[in-house]
Amino acid sequence: MRNLLIKISLVFLIFLSSYAYGETATKPEILLEPATPGPGDVMVVTVKNAAGETEGTFNGKKIYFNPSKESFKAIVAIDYFTEPGKYDLDISIKGSVFKETVEVIKKEYKVETLTLPKRMVELSPKDEARAEREQRRMDAIWPNESSRSWTGDFINPLPGEIIAPFGVRRIINNIPKSPHTGIDVRGHKGDKIIAPNDAVVALIDNQFFGGKALVLNHGQGIYTMFFHLSKVLVKPGQVVKKGDVIALVGATGRATGPHLHWGVRVQGARIDPLELIHLKLE
Ligand SMILES: [Zn+2]
Repeated sequence: MRNLLIKISLVFLIFLSSYAYGETATKPEILLEPATPGPGDVMVVTVKNAAGETEGTFNGKKIYFNPSKESFKAIVAIDYFTEPGKYDLDISIKGSVFKETVEVIKKEYKVETLTLPKRMVELSPKDEARAEREQRRMDAIWPNESSRSWTGDFINPLPGEIIAPFGVRRIINNIPKSPHTGIDVRGHKGDKIIAPNDAVVALIDNQFFGGKALVLNHGQGIYTMFFHLSKVLVKPGQVVKKGDVIALVGATGRATGPHLHWGVRVQGARIDPLELIHLKLE
């Protein structure tokens, strides 16, 4: 009975608030591109005719709307491990909430089966502990969603042939390994890597798997990371501009040859870096 009363009063409150604001707020035009994203994809939400400051959440998590030409745009990242299904997208403008449902579709990523000598895949307890420590250090970065540094579209930090795409699932000696949540770009030792957008240097590390590693914080929860570098040319906390040379290609860490492993996190979600540079955000 008590629950029912709470429900009734909630419905009444929602009715009241829509009555109070419904008259003044014009229904905005909401565009979702693509309409049905898959895991690892990025969706752009465009709100046109917004009566004021636009805010929103996707699956209960804050998304960031930025003013663009006569509209507000937000990047919604669908993490690689998202289960297909329906997710709530709530957009609030001056107290009115507009509810949308996003259908995340199934996306098949390639499966690679490899057989390698044991010594190449089995880590010593010491190396394993080190790799875990390094992973924890990285994972501690993503929840920090600072104010926006990025501006305009993201650019490619190292154009070149992609030798390992995003999302490939590897099964080595019959054991499923963590999927490839970045892209590998062919390069020569010493090739210049540029900042894909304005950022602050969040982390410089020397890792068991990633070798010389660099993470840039673009703000609003957007991070880009670069591994196997021969040289890092920036310092922790340094402000970098889009197009600045930040590091050089190498083969440090677990790498069979010189290449760049480039990864992206958007509000913690692992997405295909190519999705980020294909976005039209201006
Ligand atoms: Zn890689």
